Amino acid sequence: MLSPAPTAPTTEHHVAYVEIAVFAPLAGTFTYLWPAFLGKIATGIRVQIPFGKGKRIGVVINYTTAAPDCKNRYKSVLDRLDDTPLLDQTRRAWLKRVGRYYLAQPGELWSSALGWASQNDTRRFRCLDPSTLQQKSSPLADLFQTRAAISLKKVIERCDDTLAVRHLISQSCAHKLIEEVSHEPLWLKKQSTGQESENRQSPEATDAQHKAITSITSALKKFQPFLLFGCTGSGKTEVYLKAAQEVIAAGDQVLILVPEIGLTPLWLMRLRERFKQVALWHSAMTAKERLQVRQHLHDTDILIGTRSALFLPLPRLALIVVDEEHDASFKQQEGMTYSARDMGILLAQELNIPIVMGSATPSLESWRQVTSGVYQRLNLPQRIASNNAPIASSIIDMREEEGPVSKSLFTALQETLANRDQSILFLNRRGYSPALQCTACGDVPECHACSMRLTLHRRAGQLRCHSCGFRRRVPNTCESCGEVAFMPLGEGTEKLEEWLKEKLPDLRFARFDRDVITSHNRLEKTLTAFEQGELDCLIGTQMLVKGHDFPNVTLVGVINADLGISMPDFRAGERWWQQMTQVTGRAGRGDKAGQVIIQTRMPDAEWFQRIDESLAESTMNDELQLREMLSFPPFARWVRIVFSARKLERANQVAQQYASLCESLEGVSISGPMPCPMERVAGQYRIEVLLRDPSRKLLPWKLESIQSSMPTSRDVRIRMDVDPQDMM
Ligand SMILES: [Zn+2]
Ligand SMILES: [Zn+2]
Repeated sequence: MLSPAPTAPTTEHHVAYVEIAVFAPLAGTFTYLWPAFLGKIATGIRVQIPFGKGKRIGVVINYTTAAPDCKNRYKSVLDRLDDTPLLDQTRRAWLKRVGRYYLAQPGELWSSALGWASQNDTRRFRCLDPSTLQQKSSPLADLFQTRAAISLKKVIERCDDTLAVRHLISQSCAHKLIEEVSHEPLWLKKQSTGQESENRQSPEATDAQHKAITSITSALKKFQPFLLFGCTGSGKTEVYLKAAQEVIAAGDQVLILVPEIGLTPLWLMRLRERFKQVALWHSAMTAKERLQVRQHLHDTDILIGTRSALFLPLPRLALIVVDEEHDASFKQQEGMTYSARDMGILLAQELNIPIVMGSATPSLESWRQVTSGVYQRLNLPQRIASNNAPIASSIIDMREEEGPVSKSLFTALQETLANRDQSILFLNRRGYSPALQCTACGDVPECHACSMRLTLHRRAGQLRCHSCGFRRRVPNTCESCGEVAFMPLGEGTEKLEEWLKEKLPDLRFARFDRDVITSHNRLEKTLTAFEQGELDCLIGTQMLVKGHDFPNVTLVGVINADLGISMPDFRAGERWWQQMTQVTGRAGRGDKAGQVIIQTRMPDAEWFQRIDESLAESTMNDELQLREMLSFPPFARWVRIVFSARKLERANQVAQQYASLCESLEGVSISGPMPCPMERVAGQYRIEVLLRDPSRKLLPWKLESIQSSMPTSRDVRIRMDVDPQDMM
């Protein structure tokens, strides 16, 4: 029986006080009254509440029937979004640990964790029995007069504002008066490429692969982190897939996390060749696509996605894979700051399942766990390519060259073109040139809101800030001295494109960077054109080199290898090395010999001797030793706190306040307050305090009490970054 229809809150009585984490970047939780008409309370369900002048969504964290001490007048919860909690006990325990570790505010934590469910209002409902609805004089009867489906959004719009519509809908569903309309699962949709080759025979595993697969599958049903350490082209994917096959055959589920949306089309294709129920998750999906995934979580075999996919509560998750585990994109920088890889490890621990992290150039964090025996190491030492094609690499000193491309790289490009092979040119800088300089007075236009030079985008006739997105027309005269004497400094992909068009008119090439690849469609189109040989060359930024597999590429040229190597960040060397190794690993992946040409103005820098996958292990060991000597991460735990405000003195004040509270932490050293290396971003001044804990036992947990004793201020934003990856 449908309980008496919920009526307006005027006749309500309250049965409890509930503590709610409101989905907003606010500190702490808020107390509300729970009205009886919303039924039985549960922790972990989402509710709608009045907040300020509007309404907000939040999650019930706790409740009590005892009145709180203070005599506040509490407002009532308006509506409930969920009948039962979206996350089970295990995942809630996991989230609690995550929140404590990342010093997250409850609202931020829960809104990140339940982001996948946020597009709730696009759900559609249909009446099963209009006449019964009429008889029971349900407030929904007018809306559902026929059996046509209506979206929740419409229902909410048309119903009386005082009705708890979502609760009413779920009650009516429970009593089989209406039902939710289910979308087809994603895997029934035809692929955009249309070339589905179902159940393609999977290749025979090599001995090394076989060993790795058996190690993983014999560790199922218990917590075990693995580091799959294998050079590019060594067949890491095949290890993941074969292990996944075993998990799925047992009726369980697999989650694969990849660092970039751009990698998902290729993965989806590979997975669909092998598995039936494959689901995809990333931030650029439509509300409908998200709903499709959500409604079919139970029947999903394997879910592939970017970091937010980690939050989807797969009910029978039995294996987590984190591919390219060293990639900095696994770190979420907006809202709650977290590392999806590290959260994945905590989740695997809570669920008691194995997690496999794969890389050719592991992060030093993971490498340390291997050397200290916490992670089990799995090795894939060799490339699988049929004749193990050799790669010749050379370093060109650009101090003696003119233009963006050296003589040897130019000759190599010509030869590659003549042989009908393909090439990749890597230049990690978008735009025409990274700065415009006045040759009369030396002035370089900067962004008015950031401490950053403006990049020249010649074709658009604009100067753009790559930090905040600010754009302006290229000025005619220098604003400092009034002369007409601008000269572009250095080169970006746009300038390289111009140069190639002039010098190698026969070369069919495309640019592959964020300015050109603006949609998923463009990305797939360009990659397919390259794959099918309609293009001879791709020139691009780091977007191009992550994880793609181009079997016909025999030449890789790095236009300016010096970018990023001397950034004021202790991880600059490690990052640069990972990127270069990844770039050069794109050459010779098929059965032809490969050639790598690296252009630099500092050929004697030590890191240049390290760009060789066979040296990966010794490189990591050396770097680890250095970090240990300096007591840097991963040997110490750091927490970076960034205070940002429109007014510099306010950011300084609050940072000072925080830093003095931290002085009570014994064993933790404090640097700052000091300006961040990027002192201004989008008009905000940024001040940082860096806390270092060489014991790794105090931070971040000891900060909890400081966090709660800090008064909140409206004009200064405080961002906690535990295990910071970006020190700028
Ligand atoms: Zn000037
Ligand atoms: Zn800017």
